[in-house]
Amino acid sequence: MRIDIMTLFPEMCEAVLNESIIGRARKTGKVELNCINIRDFAENKHNKVDDMPYGGGMGMVMAIQPIESCYKSLCEGEEKPHLIYLSPKGKTLTQERVVELSNFEHIVLLCGHYEGIDQRVIDTIVDEEISIGDYVLTGGELPALVLADSVCRMLPGVLSDDLCFEEESHFAGLLEYPQYTRPAVWNGLEVPEVLLSGNHAEIEKWRRKKSFEITRERRPDMFSKLEFSKKDLKILKEMDEKAKE
Ligand code: SAM
Repeated sequence: MRIDIMTLFPEMCEAVLNESIIGRARKTGKVELNCINIRDFAENKHNKVDDMPYGGGMGMVMAIQPIESCYKSLCEGEEKPHLIYLSPKGKTLTQERVVELSNFEHIVLLCGHYEGIDQRVIDTIVDEEISIGDYVLTGGELPALVLADSVCRMLPGVLSDDLCFEEESHFAGLLEYPQYTRPAVWNGLEVPEVLLSGNHAEIEKWRRKKSFEITRERRPDMFSKLEFSKKDLKILKEMDEKAKE
């Protein structure tokens, strides 16, 4: 998969994308990630990329020409890649959309800055607007990095095993169970005994139960959408009986 990030701050994106799991995936060719400076495409004397808003008001607006030329350079020799504008006005990103996006061959992420971008870019070349939450950041770089990271970890071979994400929060509509590591006792705080038992069936049951408890308590909206197997219903019955004691 190829992900291109159109930005005014490529170094900021590179710094993050060269580290840790995504940095390794890049080096080993599991994903191609490019950070492209929109300013390099400005066709004016001072490489200006923004201008004052028509109608007046605060701040500056990113102009069409550099963005359009930058995007066109990424379309060369192939079908129009899927262009996502990171925007607080977009649809909120979910794990479900992350999985769908990981099936695209080539996506382009457009980072806005200042007051945002000229609406005509959105009306003509943007395919989708995505928000990472109901708050406003100074630029689209952090949202683009959030999106790129979440999509990359879904690609084959990026994580050591698919199980790494299949049991994680949001993948199957649940929040994850609590995790522990050594030592087994820390300042008198003990790791739940079942996790030390080596009994895999009991560990699996405990984890499922904890996932149900956490999801029901913190995200009743998610819990109400779950479909339960017979095994799950038995676990839920046991949980309810325990709560009544
Ligand atoms: N004037 C815009 C508004 O009120 O909707 C906000 C512009 S914001 C200061 C600058 C840029 O940051 C946006 O163009 C967008 O690319 C990015 N941005 C800010 N918050 C975001 C969010 N929650 N999700 C995605 N992108 C965001």
